Amino acid sequence: MIRKTRLFTPGPTPLLPAAQFAMAAADIHHRTPEFRALYQRVLEQLKGFVGTKNDVLLLASSGTGAMEASVSNLTSPGDRVLVLSAGKFGERWTAITKAFGCQADVLTAPNGQTFSLDEVRAALKPDTRAVFVQATESSTGVRHDVEGLAKLLKSEGSETLLIVDAITGLGTTHLDVDGWGVDVIIGGSQKAVMIPPGLAYLSLSDRAWKVTETAKNPRYYFDLRKERKNAQKGESSYTPAVSLIAALGAALDYIAAQGGGDVAAGRKILVDNAEMCAAMTRAAVQALGMTLFAPDAPAAAATAVLPPAGVDSGVIVKELKSRFSAIVTNGQGEMKGEIFRIAHIGFFDYMDTIAIIGALEQVAASSLNIPGFAFGQAVAAAQKVFAGQGVEEPVAVHA
Ligand SMILES: *Cc1c(COP(=O)(O)O)cnc(C)c1O
Repeated sequence: MIRKTRLFTPGPTPLLPAAQFAMAAADIHHRTPEFRALYQRVLEQLKGFVGTKNDVLLLASSGTGAMEASVSNLTSPGDRVLVLSAGKFGERWTAITKAFGCQADVLTAPNGQTFSLDEVRAALKPDTRAVFVQATESSTGVRHDVEGLAKLLKSEGSETLLIVDAITGLGTTHLDVDGWGVDVIIGGSQKAVMIPPGLAYLSLSDRAWKVTETAKNPRYYFDLRKERKNAQKGESSYTPAVSLIAALGAALDYIAAQGGGDVAAGRKILVDNAEMCAAMTRAAVQALGMTLFAPDAPAAAATAVLPPAGVDSGVIVKELKSRFSAIVTNGQGEMKGEIFRIAHIGFFDYMDTIAIIGALEQVAASSLNIPGFAFGQAVAAAQKVFAGQGVEEPVAVHA
């Protein structure tokens, strides 16, 4: 049979065709009224997508650029910060904060798990200036309790900033950025907004903007104060990634259209969609006798799965690719060979989800030796979840 290549990876994610067309047509110069109109429109739509009244800034970099910008613009050498690290992206926060001379206290959770708020409370010190965390840790498929963390910091009445890498959280998790009091929220283009890599975006609370005035770490390309001043005039400080910005505009139009013209309503639908794909996938793999790697707080961004005992997860990753051109990801670092991850971020639907589950049944039949295996077990479990009859709590599906 022929095979269509399909990405089931937590970034890059499948591209929205309308965004690809917009990209190909984006032959405009950035210091023109045409670009300024596009840029201002996209920045305004992004506020609705992120769910904030604050300015959202776009940077020409991968997501890590915005992570670095949040550190360089909001900390000074010697600042005490708390990093909540539960996987590879948590480790990245530790590395960046240390690179900028912060004194990083690191609270770690084992791979596949999240932190309790009591542990976080105990790790906070009176002089902790900022807490760094992921909304969803893509390397393990875990979701952290951003709302609980925000409430905890509020109840302590502290000045501590909450800085959230929501690069795979945005569009897969319901986040009330302003309502909860998240100070910095970060996203990336190759995730839920369904366009290629190369753009990062972030927004800062009023409190965080004040800190940028006194923070002493060096910054040049990622000087957020300068970027904001320019953005308010429809300009970017340096040559923007014009074609990606055009693609982003088309993607946000698509998301808004899902919500009847309202981008915030569209984002809710996108999140519910990811929740449904994830719930179907969790039920399916468990019906095959496999175990969830993050059973207690699974993210809708990606489902991390432990293969049957004695099986290297790479076998499943390789077979899905060679037989079905379905790209799923192995574990990163020490989790390589231990888990595989199926993502649900952005442009995935019911059909994609049933297809990957069907392909996984084929791999199970040929290579996994699962006692009692029969075709249809995983698909049936997913169908029941979709129909609201599953073991998983049904998630609202929008037309
Ligand atoms: C993809 C991702 C990033 C950013 O990685 P880049 O390669 O710099 O785009 C950061 N955090 C999480 C949780 C991610 O999934």
